[in-house]
Amino acid sequence: VTSTEAVGVDVGATHVRVCRVRVHGRELSQEGPLVRRSWNPSGRATVDDLSVVLSDLVATLGAGPRAPIGVGFAGQLTDDGRVVINAPNLGWRDVALARALENALGRPRITVVNDMKAILAGEVSMGVARGADPVLACYVGTGVGGALAVGGAVVRGAGGNAGELGHVKLYGYDGACGCGERGCVEALCGGAAIVRRLDAERARGAWGSVFRDGEPSDVARVDEAALAGDPTALALWDELALGLGTALAGACTLLNPELVVLGGGVFLRAPGLSERVTQATLGLTASVARARLRFEYGDLGESAGALGAACVAVLKGPTR
Ligand SMILES: [Zn+2]
Repeated sequence: VTSTEAVGVDVGATHVRVCRVRVHGRELSQEGPLVRRSWNPSGRATVDDLSVVLSDLVATLGAGPRAPIGVGFAGQLTDDGRVVINAPNLGWRDVALARALENALGRPRITVVNDMKAILAGEVSMGVARGADPVLACYVGTGVGGALAVGGAVVRGAGGNAGELGHVKLYGYDGACGCGERGCVEALCGGAAIVRRLDAERARGAWGSVFRDGEPSDVARVDEAALAGDPTALALWDELALGLGTALAGACTLLNPELVVLGGGVFLRAPGLSERVTQATLGLTASVARARLRFEYGDLGESAGALGAACVAVLKGPTR
């Protein structure tokens, strides 16, 4: 089996992560460290800003000029992955990302895939979801991300946007979401939404038992307070767990997955919230779909998105 190399890129709302990947047949392994760089400190960065940072990072990796490049991107893409339809956390709409990166990096063809599909492709190929079927992913970071894999392949959907767990609508909830719609899970449970809500409630004098004046609103602090029995923190965590758990349980009842892969910065920093979401999901999933259901954290860690994007670029899957 010949061994080739590829480059994996993960573009998040604030940081980009890149790594070299060694490819042996259908097996991939990370080669060297994951390199991480802040690219959007203002929250207003453009595709040109991203192109500058990425061309520099990819050059420093030293991968050959013919190495395939896969890019995981946090946003909704057209079916062919060429254009960003909507990236709520960046404020981007209708951006020709693939062409901009190809021009900036001097590469003929760059594969762009939704970041959650990349993460799940990585976990299915070489991580915690290897051999499990079907699989759902539920990640809570800045936003709420989802993906599903059936028969070892990440499901694309008719328009390329299957798995948008964060934009499932909740009955009786009307919060404005960054995607432009209302009532989305992400508007209630995404990390950015949680911090905005904490800031607003603190400005009205709430949360005095949890946060000192001037201290930033932080999910880890809320999680500690909930663990210690603070009623305000417990009420918020229960509300979020019920919202996200309702959406996730609907997906579990429909798909009957063997495994739900969990991850994202909010879940990692607030394990008590993650546990409550798991319990709420189990409680709301039909019992026939619950019997063999497991929840596990992804085990590719911070490299998952970049490794998964490289998987998609090299293997032309596993997505379908
Ligand atoms: Zn939405």
